[in-house]
Amino acid sequence: MGRNDPSRGVSRRGLLGVAAGLVVGGVLLTDPHPGGRIDPVAARAVLPGPARPRVLSCTGWRARDPSEPVTILARRPSKIIVHHTATRNRDDPLALSTLARAIQDFHMDTNGWIDSGHHFLINRQGLLAEGRHRSLETLLGGRRMVEGTHCPDQNGCSIGIENEGTYTESNPPPGQFAVLRVLCAFTCLQYGLRPGEIYGHRDFRDTACPGDRLYALLPSLRRSVARLLKPGVDVRTVNSPATWPLLRIADRGPQVLAAQHLLRAAGVPGVVADGQFGRATVDGVYDFQRRHGLELTGMIGGGSWPLLAVPVRRGQGGEAELAVRALLSTGRGPAAGGGQGWTVPDTVATPAWQRLLGTG
Ligand SMILES: [Zn+2]
Repeated sequence: MGRNDPSRGVSRRGLLGVAAGLVVGGVLLTDPHPGGRIDPVAARAVLPGPARPRVLSCTGWRARDPSEPVTILARRPSKIIVHHTATRNRDDPLALSTLARAIQDFHMDTNGWIDSGHHFLINRQGLLAEGRHRSLETLLGGRRMVEGTHCPDQNGCSIGIENEGTYTESNPPPGQFAVLRVLCAFTCLQYGLRPGEIYGHRDFRDTACPGDRLYALLPSLRRSVARLLKPGVDVRTVNSPATWPLLRIADRGPQVLAAQHLLRAAGVPGVVADGQFGRATVDGVYDFQRRHGLELTGMIGGGSWPLLAVPVRRGQGGEAELAVRALLSTGRGPAAGGGQGWTVPDTVATPAWQRLLGTG
């Protein structure tokens, strides 16, 4: 936790005290019908607003048993990862339990996972369900976590939240986003996380998840989580984490040009450094992803970037240094990456790459 972390020093009692008579006070993350089934319509009726989301437990939505026991890790997660389900933005809502079961079936029968991959699911109506078994119990305990299967390399250190819908071109419904906010705040509170530790799936993998629109809402999500944790906090102190840009077909500009130089530096054949993410670049990315055992998406996101953006020494020459120059020699590069008082170090490594790319 950083010294200037706005959530630092917030005690659970403090939050509950504040919340008691106010909006957040209602953070009530318990299964109102343990062992039973909750009727989503009735649940909606008793919600006085997004401030009191109730969690429909695995028992509540009649989850299948996991195919093998879930793994409980004796540590707290270090982050939250936000996803969208990439399913249709239905106008005819499925019952929460039906949706939760359909996703669990898909994760177990098609993906071959032991249980739901995520820890929590929020439907478009703003109703909340437990995902993987024991996620709720461990969240309430605040000391341990269940290993998920929602983001390779991050499954043992992150809480994965699925949001029903596809948020590439439309925003999540306000009720769903409000519940996401409260769930994130409660998760931060329970595990001592900062709002700046809320990420999108694309920050770690080469995926468009959680959709451009929901991803663009993450800074606002972090700020409102900070406010829930500590009303009156100066939200200008709520930082977004350093990440990587997502690049994909039809993108153009200096980031693309830099990525193309880095693909060439990595020895990927057939990539022309022209700043246009066309078919040849997609094929080059597939090649790079195949070599590194990454999912083959043809996009460059949080999966490929850390492997592509190798350390570059000033004056070393070659394609990698051309990548640095591509970012420095354009309006977007130094302006986006630099900022006041920052100079490009002699060796450009991850933090400098992220600043040059405008996401640091
Ligand atoms: Zn995802």
